[in-house]
Amino acid sequence: MSASIDRAYWKPEAETLARPALEALQLDRLRRTVARVAESVPLYRKKFEQAKVTPDDIRSLADLRRLPFTTGADLRASYPTGMLAVPLDETLRLHTSSGTTGKPKALFFSRQDVDNAAELIARSFVATGMTRQDIFQNMMTYGLFTGALVAHYGAEKIGCLVIPAGPGNSDRQLLLMQDFHTTSIHLTPSFALYFADILEKRGIDPRKDLALKRAFVGAEPYTEETRRKIEHGLGLRVFNSYGLSEMNGPGVAFECQEQAGMHLWEDHYILEIIDPESGEPLPAGERGELVLTTLVREAMPILRYRTRDITSVVDQPCACGRTHRRIARITGRADDMLIVRGVNIYPQQIERILMGLPKLGRNYLIVLEGLDEMTVKVELSEAGFDGQLDHVVALKNEIAGLLRAEILTKPRVELVPPGTLPISEGKAKRVIDNRKL
Ligand SMILES: [Zn+2]
Repeated sequence: MSASIDRAYWKPEAETLARPALEALQLDRLRRTVARVAESVPLYRKKFEQAKVTPDDIRSLADLRRLPFTTGADLRASYPTGMLAVPLDETLRLHTSSGTTGKPKALFFSRQDVDNAAELIARSFVATGMTRQDIFQNMMTYGLFTGALVAHYGAEKIGCLVIPAGPGNSDRQLLLMQDFHTTSIHLTPSFALYFADILEKRGIDPRKDLALKRAFVGAEPYTEETRRKIEHGLGLRVFNSYGLSEMNGPGVAFECQEQAGMHLWEDHYILEIIDPESGEPLPAGERGELVLTTLVREAMPILRYRTRDITSVVDQPCACGRTHRRIARITGRADDMLIVRGVNIYPQQIERILMGLPKLGRNYLIVLEGLDEMTVKVELSEAGFDGQLDHVVALKNEIAGLLRAEILTKPRVELVPPGTLPISEGKAKRVIDNRKL
């Protein structure tokens, strides 16, 4: 495989900058950012006062720790324009965060911010082997969510033909892929699995009938097993993509062709891994909450943002030659963590087990009820559904045993026929918590 890897970079000087130069650049940009927000954002003026810190106190990257965190609650409380560091007429685009209830988070981009976000996507896509010859079908949601638009601008920057398909409507997706020889797609893992099912049902062999080479998959955490299922079902290579609207959307970190962790673009962001409970930094390699500081954002700089995403730093040099450190795949959200009978469980641990069993389909649901009773409902695959009761019972026991070894609690397992759980073409809802605790 290595022999065929294309070593192209989008911006080689930035992507392969030696660590000391990269860190000097980070410090310079951090100091400018801190000075700007102290001047122009009342929230940070107040936080600096409370933390008894001034911009002059930031003399090394280690001084980052003296700065206050920014949380999702801060962004919501500052809605709609409280976090702006430039006059409103210097902004060019507004996105809002997806997901959570209550007020959204408003994210503003200046012209330079729009361009920087596209640059990072271009860098990321080229790292996966993409060139201007590629045909890019963007199957993410266009709109207030950053996912699709930011990727769209990045692919256009490379010079690809971009098909703004949006999510859903699998028949039209397939038609576009067939007629325009799509090579690269961008979508959520749940839609990728669903689309793989559609191809199978239509009797389409993607290796023979389509031109697909790669998928950029993100916006939801997923497992290595799910990656393999998508690669198998769609006949392509899957590259992990990490981003969040608060940090421009996709393109914060991305896998290169080594597919072994995502390079986080450290000339644009400073990364920290902290203990989500204590807020203290964790030693290199340990898993904790990712905290990000923007270094070049104009309209809305954000210091030490608590992403709530759980990951760790891969602290070895990468064979691709990029010097920016990698983060491991996101293994959960600090907020998704379920506490069941006193044990911390991430839904992705359950997914990893289920996706490793060939008799199971691609759809599952975790239901919590009463006093910590957990039921895992999972679809059988077409092949796994032979109608024999004793086979079903044996499989249920096998799954319950594997789950107990992973999550230290034994859930009820319910096997359901293929295609009976609610399907998802966007963000999947995997947990229903009806507990009365
Ligand atoms: Zn690499």
